[in-house]
Amino acid sequence: MDLSLSDSEIDFRTEVRELITAAFPPPERYDGGADHERRWHGALIDKGWAANKWPEAFGGPGWTATQNFIWEREVSAAGLPAQVGGMGIGMLAPILFAYGSPWQQDRFLPDILHDRVRWCQGYSEPGAGSDLAALRTRAVLDGDDYVVDGEKVWTSGAHRADWMFCLTRTSDEPKKQAGITFLLLDMHAPGVTVRPIISIDGRHMFNSVTFEGVRVPVAHRVGREGEGWTVAKGLLSHERTGQAFVSLSTDLVRRIGEVAAGLPGSEGDTLLKDGGFARRLSMAEIELQALAVTELRTLSEVAAGGAPGAQSSLLKLVGTDIVQRMTEFFVECAGPYAAPWFPETEGPPFPVVGPPWARPEVVRYLEGRAASIAGGSDEVQRNIIAKHVLKL
Ligand SMILES: Cc1cc2nc3c(=O)[nH]c(=O)nc-3n(C[C@H](O)[C@H](O)[C@H](O)COP(=O)(O)OP(=O)(O)OC[C@H]3O[C@@H](n4cnc5c(N)ncnc54)[C@H](O)[C@@H]3O)c2cc1C
Repeated sequence: MDLSLSDSEIDFRTEVRELITAAFPPPERYDGGADHERRWHGALIDKGWAANKWPEAFGGPGWTATQNFIWEREVSAAGLPAQVGGMGIGMLAPILFAYGSPWQQDRFLPDILHDRVRWCQGYSEPGAGSDLAALRTRAVLDGDDYVVDGEKVWTSGAHRADWMFCLTRTSDEPKKQAGITFLLLDMHAPGVTVRPIISIDGRHMFNSVTFEGVRVPVAHRVGREGEGWTVAKGLLSHERTGQAFVSLSTDLVRRIGEVAAGLPGSEGDTLLKDGGFARRLSMAEIELQALAVTELRTLSEVAAGGAPGAQSSLLKLVGTDIVQRMTEFFVECAGPYAAPWFPETEGPPFPVVGPPWARPEVVRYLEGRAASIAGGSDEVQRNIIAKHVLKL
């Protein structure tokens, strides 16, 4: 496999760098705030690059796997998000390309592309997380509508979402995976109640969402009735392929190097030159390079029309492990300044204690623990790999 870039790919990389510099002329850097997000999104829309993985037919740039690879590396190195927009752009859109009716594609894709509406994912329920097929939220056909009753849980961002793509039960088949239907549900419809779930770090990301007699037009059903499991599996594999976190980990390696080069090690030199630290960091970097190649291979298979399948579980499993280990290096670098962290002490009157990079990195470390649960736990990914790759 030839991993060197062609001349046209090098030209493309230059074009990407020019766009980044035009949007944020150095020394200015993207700060993650709403103003910068709007500016970056505007630049992407103007350039026609707002949805980097979308095919041209739906308003995307139609890039090759290698172009996407270059794009993600370059924007990540500049501290920018590869895409603006929530779950619609990366998770729902590929499903609408494959299973959506022409009406659904026209109705929903432009709003997703222009980040005019926010989507949330309604899969998990109390008693149906890893065993997702056990879900019980019921959708009963009544004229031209389904009437939905039930409860979803751990719904990230539901309190800000306009729409939910969700799984519902339309019939009780002996095989649990049958009888599930994929619906697009208006979060502002009567009968939808969103309740916050505050997590241990004091933040509000999760919600419980209940449905009482919520009417969803049949036109908002993606795929056929009872075909929801197949649709959802496609979506999950796209979600997991996007969770290899290679760009993030690559950026973390660079920043760990910068931080550790300024800290004392136990052998009289800097921490970066400390034998034990350097060896562990190099091991993680080598694994990251192997993961990057695996991701590139998977992306080229997807670009050639293949489905990521069990390979996406492998990417998610290894990618999560690496990113979690990377964040541990920062905790090690922060030493005692990593120990206490409470949301109540964020900002005045509490002074920032320790180096300025420590607190955001410790928060990232804590948040990163959830990555081996979200999108299907490590154990679930291992089960999928065992079944489909090892054929156990
Ligand atoms: C940050 C984050 C964001 C999330 N966002 C969303 C969202 O937006 N929408 C949504 O629908 N859901 C969301 N979830 C929920 C997520 O999908 C579930 O938490 C996940 O699927 C696990 O389900 P559970 O929490 O019910 O745990 P359980 O399924 O009860 O699992 C508990 C433990 O048992 C293990 N286990 C379960 N079954 C097996 C098995 N067969 N073999 C081996 N081990 C097993 C699991 O690995 C886990 O360690 C989110 C979760 C997190 C952490």
